[in-house]
Amino acid sequence: MSKVLCVLYPDPAPGYPPHYVRDEIPIITTYADGQMAPTPTEPLGFRPGELVGSVSGELGLRSYLEKLGHELIVTSDKDGPNSEFEKMLPDAEVVISQPFWPAYLTKERIIKAKKLKLALTAGIGSDHIDLEAAAHAHITVAEVTGSNSVSVAEHVVMVMLSMVRNYLPSHEIAVHGGWNIADCVSRSYDIEGMHFGTIGAGRIGLAVLRRLKPFGLHLHYTQRHRLSSEIEQELGLIFHPDAETLVSAVDFVNLQIPLYPSTEHLFDDKMFARMKRGSYLINSARGKLVDRDAVVRAVTSGHIAGYAGDVWFPEPAPPDHPWRTMPFNGMTPHISGTSLSAQARYAAGTLEILESYFGGVPIREEYLIVDGGVLAGTGAKSYRLT
Ligand code: NDP
Repeated sequence: MSKVLCVLYPDPAPGYPPHYVRDEIPIITTYADGQMAPTPTEPLGFRPGELVGSVSGELGLRSYLEKLGHELIVTSDKDGPNSEFEKMLPDAEVVISQPFWPAYLTKERIIKAKKLKLALTAGIGSDHIDLEAAAHAHITVAEVTGSNSVSVAEHVVMVMLSMVRNYLPSHEIAVHGGWNIADCVSRSYDIEGMHFGTIGAGRIGLAVLRRLKPFGLHLHYTQRHRLSSEIEQELGLIFHPDAETLVSAVDFVNLQIPLYPSTEHLFDDKMFARMKRGSYLINSARGKLVDRDAVVRAVTSGHIAGYAGDVWFPEPAPPDHPWRTMPFNGMTPHISGTSLSAQARYAAGTLEILESYFGGVPIREEYLIVDGGVLAGTGAKSYRLT
């Protein structure tokens, strides 16, 4: 019998289950790059469209795991030495966590987790795990690659339009009985003809570029490996050799790269100084890619016109985190990749990975981040250990 320790975000404040506003969601079987959506063989322990990312939803895993005789522990109590997570960790063979409510698997915790074999991210982005320590301890790290790429891409387009059209302040004016059009529009622009650049054009970055093409923007990107010339031509992409060159050429910068030691604080005062006055930064990748206080300085001084995204450090962000209250921010809690649609896919993918693991068959290559003591699969392509 194995102990599976699953850390999920808390239930809705009014109680679980919530009242659902829709009865169904479209079922996606193949992603844009041809990758197959999750294909577990066991029945799902939930109806697609249900809230399974919070504690009572349990990712729908209980019946499957208990049928096999395994123990499932689900908690949202994840931080500090007296947390449920820390207490249960030494006996856990599998840890499941989500980037939206990350159970940080630090080097110290990995040393305590003597029985841990599989650290599974129900979602995308495994930077809450010390990958070097996991590799050293021969722990497999896997995530449900592709499961919420479109969810995040749609969020990026949403916050970009919200910021440039001054949507949130204008909505507030309407809600509070006001009608001063000039207040609403004095920061409102069309995006047609503007320049948009993404740092990282992987699954999400490319999906954003594809969604923005019909808006008539000039599209730029940078990453270490160039996209194929077919894709560059199809979307009319302008390639930049590095982030520094890109940021000085565009009106919108989108960050869509993984967090690892050498990408931490990529956006510091120097990088902000290179950005055009009045440009916008969108970050739905990871909070630590940006120096917390440098962005506050850049927005407050008026050098950049806005900052939006849904990723912070740490998560949950403390109540006094300056990004909550700095001017012209379009921040949300970490929600972009956990729409009910995304949950159906990452919960199914979690089940698929567990089936492979307990069935003794290889986990799909694209789901792997660390395996056999080294970066593997998507991890080998997109991450670095330094
Ligand atoms: P992919 O692995 O598909 O793409 C990441 C891209 O980043 C790759 O194409 C890679 O290309 C590029 N990259 C890596 N390092 C660098 C670098 N130093 N400079 C420039 N480019 C770099 O990942 P996804 O698109 O699926 O996700 C990207 C990130 O978004 C995740 O790692 C995660 O942190 C975040 N995310 C956030 C979510 C949310 O809910 N907010 C949900 C899902 C993901 P190359 O190797 O050629 O450089």
